[in-house]
Amino acid sequence: MNIHEYQAKSLLAKFGVTVPKGGVAFNAAEAEKAAKELGGPVWVVKSQIHAGGRGAGRFKSDPDGKGGVRVVKSVADVAENAGKMLNQVLVTKQTGPAGKEVKRLYIEEGCAIARELYLGMLLDRATSRVTVMASTEGGMEIEEVAHNTPEKIIRFAIDPVEGLQPYHARRVAFALGLKDKQIGVATKFLQAMYKAFIALDGSIVEINPLVVTDKGDIIALDAKMNFDDNALYRHPDIEALRDPDEEEASETEATKHGLNYVKLDGEIGCMVNGAGLAMATMDIIKLYGSEPANFLDVGGGATKERVTTAFKIILSDKNVKGILVNIFGGIMRCDIVAEGVVAAAREVKLHVPLVVRLEGTNVDLGKKIMAESGLPIISADNLADAAEKVVKAVKGAK
Ligand code: GDP
Ligand code: MN
Repeated sequence: MNIHEYQAKSLLAKFGVTVPKGGVAFNAAEAEKAAKELGGPVWVVKSQIHAGGRGAGRFKSDPDGKGGVRVVKSVADVAENAGKMLNQVLVTKQTGPAGKEVKRLYIEEGCAIARELYLGMLLDRATSRVTVMASTEGGMEIEEVAHNTPEKIIRFAIDPVEGLQPYHARRVAFALGLKDKQIGVATKFLQAMYKAFIALDGSIVEINPLVVTDKGDIIALDAKMNFDDNALYRHPDIEALRDPDEEEASETEATKHGLNYVKLDGEIGCMVNGAGLAMATMDIIKLYGSEPANFLDVGGGATKERVTTAFKIILSDKNVKGILVNIFGGIMRCDIVAEGVVAAAREVKLHVPLVVRLEGTNVDLGKKIMAESGLPIISADNLADAAEKVVKAVKGAK
């Protein structure tokens, strides 16, 4: 799960990470109030969306104007910029061309930046450990730094028993070119950040940029945090930070029904049991010249109700021009699946071509049920056949 920058900063601050003072605003009046409370003389007006690259991003309403992060010098300017940014669509490198509507702003005290650095921690599944990443190249995307100048990034794993030790922190501080008193300050900063990461079951915490101010202070100027969804039950306070505006409504609905659904941009809806089979199905759709509209794993015990819900969710996507059902009946019997598919197709008054490939227990009975249903279900014999048929049905319909 993802949260906003201002929420991440507030969580990190509780663990002792140094962040600038700021206040969240949902309208221009609130922005003005927050600005007055901060006092100035410099403020930063920051768009709060679940995507990075805001500084370099541009608003759709004003493509030649200023970006999603603005440094201003008066309360009046805070209010004016807030008015221009709120409810406008911000397009950044990470949002894709559709962009994201800015519904919240974070008004922060400005600071005089001497250096912009990068500091990140993430769970590395390959080593099953927390990896610390640091770079002198702050303010730009770390993926870009990794691609162009990988030597400018240091990374190492933390032993979970040992935890983040002062020597780890010194290693980071030296790599970042910090000196004297700053080394002690950076050590405290890193230990606080690690404590937050572990205590909150983070999967990513990224400070980009981590800045050294002209006075030599070390501050988290930006903060991004992601959490392990499987551990959210332990953190109702984090769950409460969820912003439905930032989430795909159909994905939220699917989660409620125990379906693993991820919306994609293609035209062929997929309903599959098992994540591996779902991935293979998406691959083969591409191989036959089309694009999957979603990833959907209905899981092991696909009942009629679940299949119906899955159909509804797939069809709620207006891009869907055809559906491919690919079910392997191992524990689940194909005749039960077929009954579910038929009932669901009737209930949702299916209006796009439906290709079904069933394999496994009672497959013949399953195919018979579909054939005798009177519905225009196209039956397929194997995965390749199914993909070919659905792509043909969709392209033919155009
Ligand atoms: P992102 O573009 O979404 O990653 O948003 P950031 O929070 O990282 O802000 C983008 C850039 O704005 C930073 O890299 C800074 O260069 C600049 N910026 C943010 N806050 C301040 C500030 O207080 N003072 C100044 N001078 N620049 C700032
Ligand atoms: Mn940033």
